Amino acid sequence: MSQDATILLIEDEPEIRRFLRTTLPAHGFRLYEAATGQDGLTEAKARNPDLILLDLGLPDLDGGEVIRQVRQWTTTPIIVLSARDQEQTKVAALDLGADDYITKPFGVNELLARVRTALRHAARTGDGGESVFVLGDLKVDLGRRQVFVSRKEVHLTPIEYKLLTTLIRYAGKVLTHRQLLKEVWGPLHVDEGHYLRVYMRQLRNKLEPNPAHPRYLMTELGVGYRLRTE
Ligand code: CA
Repeated sequence: MSQDATILLIEDEPEIRRFLRTTLPAHGFRLYEAATGQDGLTEAKARNPDLILLDLGLPDLDGGEVIRQVRQWTTTPIIVLSARDQEQTKVAALDLGADDYITKPFGVNELLARVRTALRHAARTGDGGESVFVLGDLKVDLGRRQVFVSRKEVHLTPIEYKLLTTLIRYAGKVLTHRQLLKEVWGPLHVDEGHYLRVYMRQLRNKLEPNPAHPRYLMTELGVGYRLRTE
């Protein structure tokens, strides 16, 4: 995976957090952590991660309640971390909208495989089945998280990548400032219009042949932005 994906870990056991804090960044993921369900919900809204790893046995909230609340506003993949003897809880978690589960204790390779599968699946379902988006000199491989301009790979930050893939998901349609802020930064940031201006400028500088006269990332004055489709 070329672009760093962001992962939020909601887990009260310090040993597991320590373990993932060293392993996940070493494999190209950005990690955010929360030790309680409430903090996890707040972090999820503030960070809008690409994936959530959720321990079901949290000190304050039931893991199922966390899933239920997260699912009210996002389809971001959730992988549940559960103890071996919790079959019932796993089923309940999946029914509530978790995407997968992994049983403790788990190894790094097993976890990475699950994470990559969930991210690939999210990329596929996110754009309605197509995993490569091509527009002029711009090519985005959503499955591999790679972006090319004139066949040269371009590195985007996690936010830039999420902004681009959100526009791709709604290619051809106008997205309002609030819609983009909610999709990319999360529901706590719908009024932070300056985020959008800053990141749109960065994205244009990286992708557009002439950023002052955009060919792909079009401004809809006073409304929002639209990615051209032809
Ligand atoms: Ca626990």
